[in-house]
Amino acid sequence: MLEQLRRIVQKVNTAKDLKSALDIIVTSVRSTLNTQVCSVYLLDTDINCHVLMASEGLKKEAVGHVSLAIGEGLVGLVAKHAEPINLQDAPLHPSFHYLRETGEEEFHSFLGVPIIHHRSVLGVLVVQHRERRRFDEEEEAFLITLSAQLAGVIAHAEATGAIEGISPSGQKTSDTVFTGVSGSSGVAIGHAVVVFPHADLRQIPDKRAKDINAEIEFFRSCLNAVRNDMRELHARLAGQVAEEERQLFDVYVRMLDDGALGNEVVERIRQGFWAQGALAYVANEHVRTFEEMNDPYLRERALDIKDLCSRVLFYLQEKEPLVTEYRDDTILVSEELTPSMLAEIPKEKLKGLISIKGSGTSHVAILARSMGIPTVMGVIDLPYGQLNDREVIVDGYKGEIISNPSDQLRNRYLETIKEQEQLTAGLEGLKDLPCETADKHRVHLWVNTGLLSDVVRSLDQGAEGIGLFRTEVPFLLRERFPSEKEQAEIYREQLEAFAPKQVTMRTLDVGGDKSLPYFPIEEANPFLGWRGIRVTLDHPEIFTAQIRAMLRASIGLENLQIMLPMISNVHEVNSAMQLIKKSYRELIQEGLEVKFPPIGVMIELPAAVYQTRVLAKMVDFISIGSNDLTQYLLAVDRNNPRVANLYTAFHPAVLAALRQVVTEAQKQGKPVSICGEMAGDPGAAVLLMAMGFDILSMNASTLLKVKSVIRSITMDAAQDLLEQVMELDDAQMIRSAVDLALYNAGVDRLLRSSRTN
Ligand code: PEP
Ligand code: MG
Repeated sequence: MLEQLRRIVQKVNTAKDLKSALDIIVTSVRSTLNTQVCSVYLLDTDINCHVLMASEGLKKEAVGHVSLAIGEGLVGLVAKHAEPINLQDAPLHPSFHYLRETGEEEFHSFLGVPIIHHRSVLGVLVVQHRERRRFDEEEEAFLITLSAQLAGVIAHAEATGAIEGISPSGQKTSDTVFTGVSGSSGVAIGHAVVVFPHADLRQIPDKRAKDINAEIEFFRSCLNAVRNDMRELHARLAGQVAEEERQLFDVYVRMLDDGALGNEVVERIRQGFWAQGALAYVANEHVRTFEEMNDPYLRERALDIKDLCSRVLFYLQEKEPLVTEYRDDTILVSEELTPSMLAEIPKEKLKGLISIKGSGTSHVAILARSMGIPTVMGVIDLPYGQLNDREVIVDGYKGEIISNPSDQLRNRYLETIKEQEQLTAGLEGLKDLPCETADKHRVHLWVNTGLLSDVVRSLDQGAEGIGLFRTEVPFLLRERFPSEKEQAEIYREQLEAFAPKQVTMRTLDVGGDKSLPYFPIEEANPFLGWRGIRVTLDHPEIFTAQIRAMLRASIGLENLQIMLPMISNVHEVNSAMQLIKKSYRELIQEGLEVKFPPIGVMIELPAAVYQTRVLAKMVDFISIGSNDLTQYLLAVDRNNPRVANLYTAFHPAVLAALRQVVTEAQKQGKPVSICGEMAGDPGAAVLLMAMGFDILSMNASTLLKVKSVIRSITMDAAQDLLEQVMELDDAQMIRSAVDLALYNAGVDRLLRSSRTN
């Protein structure tokens, strides 16, 4: 059974579009289960019906024309209850709805299973028999397993049609929504520019060739280059490998000949596609065909095709860099956005960002927020390969992408963009005003930085200190560990720019989703592994070089604070303290006039929450890293879009933990701040202020928004709100209560709806 399942799924994966995917499903299931009928009904939300989309066994004329209203017939019942129905004699069932056009009167037994993707029922897979017999347990289990595996493929095929403005049953659609999570709030309208890692055949977008003949010429020249490489390799390997293996290169060269692969690519270019896309298409088709073969030897040949075509792709890309033009209204799209992709595009052209992987607290989302670019992360169902050059709306408030926007919807979003601009202009006036509530309670707003450009922007926004300098950022941009001297220069820039305001430098926090290219860490569970302080304590030479650099950089400025990430026990603090003291003593012995800085601990792990009292006694200040604390308390990977809907700092457990940390730190008389992303969410900031945090540290781009909300509320109202939400037991309800309170305080709608944590 497993082998049959694998074969069907693999075959379906080769389908070009939804229709061929469904045709493959019905044909293969019918023959595997030896039934007389197999059909697929899909929900078309445009017409609110389950449409018969494919069938082997029912009348062909009915396909695409017959439909059942929602809840109608046995199909409707399966979809409604999201459960299989297995009947010996379907016409006897009260819900049976006879569809004359299908000729199904001859069939008695019926087994329908729902096709479910991300909790929503896409449609129903049905098998039918003439005889009156129940399908046995094994058949039912097979169909359920198959349906679960195919749901993703069907969803993807549906989404691909939707991108082109076509509903599953072929109706024209607009305003197709793809859901992800908010990476950075704001709305942008623009045209998609898809970027992808080089030389990956699976990730080449479709583009039209500008000049077909030139494209063919170009392709042939690259093909020739690979042919020459192959001949050279063939010659070089003479005597080194067995002759049969050497023959493989001959086979390769022949595969490239005009009569074979090469010709198919040329044909596709003639249809108007660019060379890279044409090559990828042909290669992927052949790879799938080979992968589907039963013979393991032939299956392996798929690898040869991949290898060969990747070589050709390499030449195509070398001579024609992939992304040459960024449009003036670029919405940058990638399977996995990286900071370097953001760095490549001229800032004035970048309007919005879409990442298929990652979520709101991925580090690239944090970067996007600091740049103030509307961003949606984790749009796992978006067929982004088809998105190039299409107009899209990025709704960074709701975490949604809309393709094929109608004029009406576009106008609505254009209004929001105008509102955004007015709001930003209005906030400018707050820069020099203090952050205090209407009843004069003062709150300190600090910023999180990584690059020097963040510092300039932060000062411009009226920041009162740096609550988190992510020192790993300059480490990430290099090809080796920066030397002590290089580090000291970087740190000095931050300290000088902010002096006499305090600058909190966090010791190197790599591991998790931040790996240095020159210090790779391969682990099964990186967020539970060698991360933060665990790495640096194991490498005291890296830790002390960093501490020495920080201390040196602070000479004469005396505005440095040092903070330790990922602390899970007191030993880590003790060991870190000893190393810091050692570095300090060394510098003093070297005759330098350094001042011993305040040391703080980050509370990012549940274990640290319960040890706040003892940790607070050991250090000078406490800072909560709510991004990680939320991830670890809720056991939700902060980068995983599949569980992003579970990730929320408004969870009652997270709020209870935060409150406990504040109370414990205050009992020890130690200042307590928060530097996770929630501090920059205006609604959350009100709760944090009411809890008693001394400092809220956030992205510079959110600072004025938070200030504006705090200035429009009283401390009394904030404390009432906090007491009210601490009684609630559900994150959604808490979020709504906060939104309502802000609404009552007259806060602008765009400040109420950010959803970045
Ligand atoms: C946090 O975890 O909240 C934090 C500030 O650190 P980072 O986001 O860099 O892990
Ligand atoms: Mg952290």
